[in-house]
Amino acid sequence: MLHDFDPPAALLELCELMVRQPLLVLTGAGISTPSGIPAYRDKEGVRHGRAPMTYQEFIGSAAARRRYWARSMIGWPKVHQARPNTAHQALARLAAGRRIAGLITQNVDGLHQQAGSEEVIELHGNLHRVRCLDCGKRLWRSEIQAELEAENAYLQGVEAVLAPDGDARLAEAYLEGFRIPWCPCCGSDLLKPDVVFYGEGVPAEQTEAASSSIERAPALLVVGSTVMTYSSFRLCRSIAERGKPLAAINQGAMRAEALLNLKIERPCEQVLPWLAERLGSA
Ligand SMILES: [Zn+2]
Repeated sequence: MLHDFDPPAALLELCELMVRQPLLVLTGAGISTPSGIPAYRDKEGVRHGRAPMTYQEFIGSAAARRRYWARSMIGWPKVHQARPNTAHQALARLAAGRRIAGLITQNVDGLHQQAGSEEVIELHGNLHRVRCLDCGKRLWRSEIQAELEAENAYLQGVEAVLAPDGDARLAEAYLEGFRIPWCPCCGSDLLKPDVVFYGEGVPAEQTEAASSSIERAPALLVVGSTVMTYSSFRLCRSIAERGKPLAAINQGAMRAEALLNLKIERPCEQVLPWLAERLGSA
């Protein structure tokens, strides 16, 4: 692999940085797009597609929840079937080789854990878990999927375009008669995927875990993220304010552009395996 990749100067610099000390890594949608998971934003950081459902809509309207679950019944299996790519795998190997001191992700697909990364801080939650907002019961999304498919057999086999976060574009006509899932413990219809919706803050536990990782880290490496959300931009700013290096492997413009010490504009699924091999973590 080393012979067919000509490393840019910034990558050699990053490699030297990692030899000296293990880095903290922050990942975004760009690391999961090669696994077939669509991103909200393009390379220039511009959001495409319709605006995602807000927390307020989801909580405030039974019709909104019906729309969410119907679309999710079609979209979630594609996220469930997605597999980690060479970038996720390389990060797990780099962590095992102590080149990475911690991993924070904005992704909700669970692919880092599938690749073998441990103790991942999930800023925006995880799509494979569901929580009852009334009794607090935690469930696996796969259990809910089985219930959804049994109750809404008419939707099986419907083809729809996959949208970010396990969503799918589904014609309104399919929503009539859709039966949403109920909590098996308390019977509530307020089951919510364990992900942070638009209009909802990052939970304090994740914010604090991320902040304390930043305090301990000698440097931060951003992978596949434009850092457009404030929660992730804040982490970049925090590292920079401490006078510690901020590096990025990202193709296209970033909100934290002015704070970067070095940037590698190459696909992360090419750069990270190269780093893992070069640093003896292959
Ligand atoms: Zn409940």
